[in-house]
Amino acid sequence: MSANKTGYFSHPSCRKHEMGPGHPECPERLDAIDDRLLVTGVADALDRREAPQASLADLELAHDRMHVAALRGLRESLEEQIAAGGSPYAAIDPDTAINPYTWDAALHAAGAALAATDAVMAGEIENAFCAVRPPGHHACRGRAMGFCFFNNVAVAARYALARHGLKRVAIVDFDVHHGNGTEDILAGDPRVLMVGFFQHPFYPYSGDAPAGDNMLNLPVPAYTRGMEIRELIETYWMPRLEAFRPEMLFISAGFDAHRDDDLGQLGLTEQDYAWITGRIKDVARRHARGRIVSSLEGGYNLDALGRSVEAHVRVLADL
Ligand SMILES: [Zn+2]
Repeated sequence: MSANKTGYFSHPSCRKHEMGPGHPECPERLDAIDDRLLVTGVADALDRREAPQASLADLELAHDRMHVAALRGLRESLEEQIAAGGSPYAAIDPDTAINPYTWDAALHAAGAALAATDAVMAGEIENAFCAVRPPGHHACRGRAMGFCFFNNVAVAARYALARHGLKRVAIVDFDVHHGNGTEDILAGDPRVLMVGFFQHPFYPYSGDAPAGDNMLNLPVPAYTRGMEIRELIETYWMPRLEAFRPEMLFISAGFDAHRDDDLGQLGLTEQDYAWITGRIKDVARRHARGRIVSSLEGGYNLDALGRSVEAHVRVLADL
């Protein structure tokens, strides 16, 4: 175990991916996080590491080979389009587009969660936060959507099972949006328990009818506040997590349920994120030797994002 028990994984390419002027899923999100961790001194307590690229074989633990190949093909056709004087973007859906750096950024974003898993499993660190873009939890087995290309957390969960021989891993998703991609990939896999809450009805308009017994979905209406979310977590998540006894936990750490975030209408604060992280950590300490890998999903109010990630990481690092 190094002096710093919490890893911080990122890569410069994650800043170069962007989807056009004014898009909320912007490179400045990572600057807001970095700046906040630096100015508060939290960065000093983290084991900072550069994320490698995920291999295609690792991506295919969670994605169809055709999906991986299609994204690579889209990047090649974008390069031809740019060489011909065309747009520097290629759209996948109305919210989701690639630029020339997206492919590399997506490989490093998934690779961060994999390297964090390796470091946690090796006992070099107890837990990790991956400050990466693009996010992942809307990426389905066979398609990109909702700002997401590869499902970083689902790939890492399958990697922990396949490459490290774990038998049970849990995924906690506290993004304001339903993690439909993670559900698409992992529903029905008894080695995985996924727990989440999300605003409903709301993008991506799914999750009210769980796709598998291993999915614990808590749809909540707009304007639900943190105290109500905490009660739901205590009542529903905690007994399931305790009974499941995960050997490792992954967090789809979206911070767009913050009351200051205009992409969602829930009422969480950074204190709520600290509390939720503490409850996840309790489970990890009891059953998983503290092993947690958290990966950034949403969070679009830059100031609230910085404060929320600080609160989350402080609990992970016992600061
Ligand atoms: Zn979100």
